[in-house]
Amino acid sequence: MLTRADLAKYPFLSEAAEYVRELGLSIDELSAPEFGLVLDRAERRLEEALSKGRVSGDVSNESAEILSFPVSNLILSLVGEERARRRFALAESKRAYGLLRQEDPEKLEYIASTTFAWKVKRLDVKLGRRFYDFALSLPDFLRNSVHLREPRWNLPNRVLDHGFVYVTRDEAARLMEEEVRTKILERSGRSPDEVPKLLGSVVERAKGLVIKWLGVPTKYELPKVPLPEAMPPCVRHIIDSLDEGKNVQHMGRFTLASFLLNIGTGEEDVVKLFKPATDFSERMTRYQVEHIGGKRGGRTKYTCPMCTTLKTHGVCFKPDEICETIRNPLSYYKAKSRTLTNEGPKREPN
Ligand code: SF4
Repeated sequence: MLTRADLAKYPFLSEAAEYVRELGLSIDELSAPEFGLVLDRAERRLEEALSKGRVSGDVSNESAEILSFPVSNLILSLVGEERARRRFALAESKRAYGLLRQEDPEKLEYIASTTFAWKVKRLDVKLGRRFYDFALSLPDFLRNSVHLREPRWNLPNRVLDHGFVYVTRDEAARLMEEEVRTKILERSGRSPDEVPKLLGSVVERAKGLVIKWLGVPTKYELPKVPLPEAMPPCVRHIIDSLDEGKNVQHMGRFTLASFLLNIGTGEEDVVKLFKPATDFSERMTRYQVEHIGGKRGGRTKYTCPMCTTLKTHGVCFKPDEICETIRNPLSYYKAKSRTLTNEGPKREPN
């Protein structure tokens, strides 16, 4: 059912692991010139994951593609950085999703039932405008959809038939992405006792990449003085829109005020920023800013909404590379201000 090209596309499959085992290669043999491409690709896989959050789907060199995957995992387990492991697992699973969604249903069913041991049945059912290719057992569906936020993954929005949930082909691929992520995380957590000699410099380089792209782990601290240059794109966009006299909706205004108050901006300065708004009322604005700052009403100081909420409300604007590594505009601000000031990079205690 699976060709070598498939193993190159899906190197997390048990068949790919078997293929590597049968070659009987030791780590030391990777130093041979003919395996130079494997080590290169293994490092590139890591750098792509850390820098872009996505591993490229190029499978032109099948052997290097199959062999480099376990090598990347080994390097990561030797680096021992939880943030890097998670980022790599996510990037590889996104790559898998991009390829899986193009496969025919037979191949998806095969991978789902063999590698993932899903209970899955083929369907050929059209309900409304949706065409369902599969029915997936409820536990398999729930295990893999639990972290997916879109309403379509909520069980009340699904077709459920005798313990099986109907899914489209694309949805099956998306759920497989989750399964791939979990599998890779499990795999990269197993660390050998010592760093093989050949990989010493590779592991050091990988540690450098982690610092370069994810930063030094620090305590959760904000700079004492607000740093306008460290503001995330969404907040800068709200400020620009207000300056240009454009209408900013409630969620945008709430985000701006809560963000600024949380990074230590004074209430007067926050109020001033809203002045260019066409419907500006100083009294109302001051009241609302004080309310968000916890001086009025229930006296709760509000924090800035999460990026997922801001995306839903159309407040997220041109997210950049840092945005891929954070979940809240305040975390963006912390990450960027660290880079800009080079301050406070204290390592977290192990
Ligand atoms: S990802 Fe988050 S921080 Fe970045 S622009 Fe979107 S909402 Fe703002």
